[in-house]
Amino acid sequence: MSTTWSALATKALAGTALTRDEARSVLHAPADELLALLDAAFTVRRAHWGRRVSLHVLDNAKVGACPEDCGFCSQSSKYASPSGEAPMKSVDDLVEGARRAHAARAKRYCMVTATRGPSQKVLDTICAAAERIKAELDIELCASLGLLTAAKAQRLASSGVDRFNHNLETSERHYEKIVSTHTWADRVETIQHAKAAGMDTCCGGIVGLGESEDDLLDLAFALRDLDVDSVPVNFLDARPGTPLAAYPLVEPGYALRALCMFRFVHPRTDLRVAGGREITLRALQAMALYPANSIFTQGYLTTGGATPSADHQMIKDAGFELELASGEAAPADPEGVAQIPPPVRRPSLPTVRT
Ligand code: SF4
Repeated sequence: MSTTWSALATKALAGTALTRDEARSVLHAPADELLALLDAAFTVRRAHWGRRVSLHVLDNAKVGACPEDCGFCSQSSKYASPSGEAPMKSVDDLVEGARRAHAARAKRYCMVTATRGPSQKVLDTICAAAERIKAELDIELCASLGLLTAAKAQRLASSGVDRFNHNLETSERHYEKIVSTHTWADRVETIQHAKAAGMDTCCGGIVGLGESEDDLLDLAFALRDLDVDSVPVNFLDARPGTPLAAYPLVEPGYALRALCMFRFVHPRTDLRVAGGREITLRALQAMALYPANSIFTQGYLTTGGATPSADHQMIKDAGFELELASGEAAPADPEGVAQIPPPVRRPSLPTVRT
């Protein structure tokens, strides 16, 4: 292992924060040193997560017609993008989604709504679903519903929602080029409400939004300051009809360096290689398991992704194992999950702009 990268691993393992220049150097690791960098990141990941990989399943509980204008998002009502619209799912549908996630041996099931923040109806549905799922299944629950008040956060926590997701997306400086309908500070406040209510916090961002290297470093260190429990690192998969539609994919080597940088800055955190994994990393997907300890399976909110069977196969082939909601480790089982029927996609209404 290169002395430089092993020294960063030693520092991260000792709990000493990396300097900004050290984090920046990770993004510039020479191609010849990429394996050494991944090895160093893995020593940090292994100290806290072993060889375990947790699977997370997203369920798009309310599709499209969002009043917000996040420039990367095909669910915004501001853009003529093709994700369509569908009303809030029923409690029964959400419970069924959690059963499917559990059958795929996911550690966590995440209910997501395209909303500025949860209406009373959305909150009632999510909370009723959470109570039923927790009574029936051993699975952790996450919700991602937009902006929260302290009271709404409290209601979610007391209904059994373990974790709340709300991403910062990018640096505070770059944010205003991406979103205008709510502020970066609004997002920070929501994470603080979730934390105060006793939920775990999941908060990350997207690489590839036209941000500078300094923006990416700012995001990593801002998340460290917020002391979040989970950091999902997404890679932009540009959606037709959005303002970022022509933005290119992130280079796979840079994506791996970015994941290593996040691991060094967040040694103990549940670090997820999130949306855009398949299309960005392609044949290098398994390499992301060296810095990251969790992945989404069964696709994303508006795009498809690897099946649970394919993800189990990748984990098995790379010599990793699953982490279940109980905290126990279990072997990946590609054949066992191959029979799970794919989620039923509700017909969504095309988005029509006048
Ligand atoms: S990212 Fe969320 S808040 Fe922003 S437009 Fe999409 S659904 Fe709405």
